[in-house]
Amino acid sequence: MMAHTFPAATGFLVSAQQGGGRAPRPVFATRGPHETVAEALRSQTLNAVLVHSGSAGDAVARSGDTALVLAGELYNREELLPLLPSGADARTDAALVLGLLGVYDLHAFRLLNGRFAAAAALDGRVLLATDHAGSVPLYTLPAPGRVLAATEIKALVPATAQAPLSGRPVADARRIRRVPGVHQVPAGTVLDLDVRTGTAAPSRTWTPPVSRRILSEADATAAVRETLGRAVRARTGSTAPLVVLSGGIDSSGVAALAAAHTDGPLETLSMGTDASDEFTEARVVATHLGSTHREITVPTADLLGQLPYAIWASESVDPDIIEYLLPLTALYRALDGPARRILTGYGADIPLAGMHREDRLPQLDTAVAFDMATFDGLNEMTPVLSGIQGHWSTHPYWDRDVLDLLVSLEAGLKRRHGRDKWVLREAMSPLLPHETVTRPKLGVHEGSGTTSSFSLLLIDAGVPEADVHRAKSLVVREIFDRVVVEGLSPAEVSTADTVHQVAARLKETE
Ligand code: ATP
Ligand code: MG
Repeated sequence: MMAHTFPAATGFLVSAQQGGGRAPRPVFATRGPHETVAEALRSQTLNAVLVHSGSAGDAVARSGDTALVLAGELYNREELLPLLPSGADARTDAALVLGLLGVYDLHAFRLLNGRFAAAAALDGRVLLATDHAGSVPLYTLPAPGRVLAATEIKALVPATAQAPLSGRPVADARRIRRVPGVHQVPAGTVLDLDVRTGTAAPSRTWTPPVSRRILSEADATAAVRETLGRAVRARTGSTAPLVVLSGGIDSSGVAALAAAHTDGPLETLSMGTDASDEFTEARVVATHLGSTHREITVPTADLLGQLPYAIWASESVDPDIIEYLLPLTALYRALDGPARRILTGYGADIPLAGMHREDRLPQLDTAVAFDMATFDGLNEMTPVLSGIQGHWSTHPYWDRDVLDLLVSLEAGLKRRHGRDKWVLREAMSPLLPHETVTRPKLGVHEGSGTTSSFSLLLIDAGVPEADVHRAKSLVVREIFDRVVVEGLSPAEVSTADTVHQVAARLKETE
């Protein structure tokens, strides 16, 4: 099973309404041409604006009185195909999901392993669905007679100003800061909306496993190698992908598996700053795999200056998450040239508790359970991060099968023989140099010096050390208000000015 070079669409705004009408003209951070689509159904019209990669039609499917729009891609097409009636159109991912809707109705979304957001109109209903991880964020503004949904908050903001769109409350869904009426569709959920009333009923399509599997060392490592290998293969297009490589075990494992599935040399890319880098460690892996390797150095001042881009793209207000995403934002923005399919090692630490630097298994499993219960809405894996430069990124560790497996392994397989992420390290040991397999974890925010340089910027502006984390949170919120709520371009917003304003405000309230 091979992924296409690019998904047909990487973002959308849809407007489903009784009678006619048009979709508002949206703004997206995701780069790409826009295509407008209108599907007139019996009891409603589905209008959409798609951000696409050259084949917008492939992101839309229509059959009888049902229409569907899909941003992103599926990774288990082969598994799904036998579920369709014979002769059903399954040439595109959108057509395949539409066919499954005809058989299973909204339960079709329980079957999918993918990275997508979808909107479907059928009868008087609109279905809004995220993948199991909510990895393509999806937001909605429902009102009686008209339901709007988009893959970016900023695409919905103009509509919040329109008079009759008061916005209905949406059960269980997170409200968006300072954007009245807009809610985020939860991860692993399909919202079933009644267009006439604007009311929404949520159905879960995935939940993180809570039970733990007991496997022998050999069975566990074989299962991890096999399942992760399949996830990497499903994400590896017909042309060699680019792996963003730190030389840590997570991205090195992905690179090793991708190299095994690629004809010709793999491409790898590392970023560092003038403060810190992992170039030596990444080079060890690149040499071992024979990849075509590049290094990008971003000056720290430039890196911090790109904070508005990281927030504009991720639409996240969590300062810790923004620190992970900022170096990657800088990396993607520096990646000029044609649109690339990018594989990352992001997210392995969550099911394996890799950030949890201690030995006790109860604490480790508590950390896994907590992180799996609280990841939703952080937008860590949003495709918009690389999408602002026109690229498509995908995260094999958050493949549905990989995640199910990693979360469910008993804690003693995750921390074993004094090693963190033991099962992953052991699974990858035949494919990687010993020094890579045994290398201690270093977070992307640490390896690039992002956390320390952001702290220093605040301290230099007069923020007391004890207030640094709170100040980071305030800076991130301020910038969110400018680039998401007010619609300013990130190029017009200055990190340094915002830091000084926040520092001054904190001094006043002392
Ligand atoms: P480990 O968790 O053991 O350090 P890792 O470095 O691969 O492994 P993270 O530190 O969690 O993973 O970083 C998340 C992902 O971000 C990486 O897997 C990699 O794809 C990407 N990344 C991190 N640092 C860099 C870097 N300096 N250059 C390029 N990509 C990076
Ligand atoms: Mg790392």
